[in-house]
Amino acid sequence: MKPILLVHGGAGDIPASRVSGKLDGIKKSLRDGFKLLNNGQSSLDAVEEAVRSMELDDNFNAGYGSCLNSDGIVEMDASIMEGKYLKAGCLTLLQDIMHPISVARKVMEKTNHTFIGGESALKFAETHNFKPLTKGSLVTENAKLALDEFKERQAKGLDTIFSPTELDKKSVEELGETVGAVAIDVDGNIAAATSTGGITGKMPGRIGDSPILGCGTYADNEIGGVSTTGHGETIMRFNLAQRILQLISLKQVPVQQATEDATREMTQRLIGTGGAITLDKQGEVGIYFSSERMAWGYVKDNKLIYGINKGEIYREDL
Ligand code: ASP
Repeated sequence: MKPILLVHGGAGDIPASRVSGKLDGIKKSLRDGFKLLNNGQSSLDAVEEAVRSMELDDNFNAGYGSCLNSDGIVEMDASIMEGKYLKAGCLTLLQDIMHPISVARKVMEKTNHTFIGGESALKFAETHNFKPLTKGSLVTENAKLALDEFKERQAKGLDTIFSPTELDKKSVEELGETVGAVAIDVDGNIAAATSTGGITGKMPGRIGDSPILGCGTYADNEIGGVSTTGHGETIMRFNLAQRILQLISLKQVPVQQATEDATREMTQRLIGTGGAITLDKQGEVGIYFSSERMAWGYVKDNKLIYGINKGEIYREDL
């Protein structure tokens, strides 16, 4: 099997000023993750590495640069899954740890559980030698600015992200920048990973779709792997990752069409926008977003293929 790595850097109404930083971050993440696949390492290693690369990069809403909740605090969600034994590790409401995706992998590999959260997740991370940062270290100026803007809009009654029946499409589109990766390795094993700070101005304790299997992340060697991004309240009610895989497995819909159809149907029915990246078990790629932009990229045959605007595709050598 030819190894493939596919990543995203979040769906949303990404301002033009953030486009080039994101594309650079996507390319770095692909190079970091693909190096491992090229050395014969597993798809799980590759998706973890690709996500770690973006968690370090403040162009993305994960790790350093995460969105802030309404109290100005970073609370992160992450999940990782492998498709051979369907093992997974999920984490929510984690604070002050640089790489939530690696903690999620430890949950998968070192516990009998699948999902842990809050203070216990932080304690668990510490027992596995993740050093908590000093409080506030993951907060960036950009994230503070976004929270200020969110609060201004909210004060004017313009933000309705928590009452989806009256969703103001504009406010939903301003979400985004979560990171994710899906890979297939030489042995045909598929893995998927997603990491996020959630959405700006969320209630403390709010949990999004990203750490929920079948919504933010899923991997099954018999079908494919998916990582999603966008309005979490919408994605989790629609089970976006599972819907895409169902179209592939039950209706034999090709992977690009399945990614498109499920994401489009989600936005038609629930208003909230989002995007998804999918790999099927043959290593075919599906990429689609109903939001204005989504940074994405993949490596195939030693070429980097990437984009962020609708209908736009760039190519360069690995
Ligand atoms: N889905 C994430 C959440 O709602 C946000 C995003 O993808 O940008 O927590």
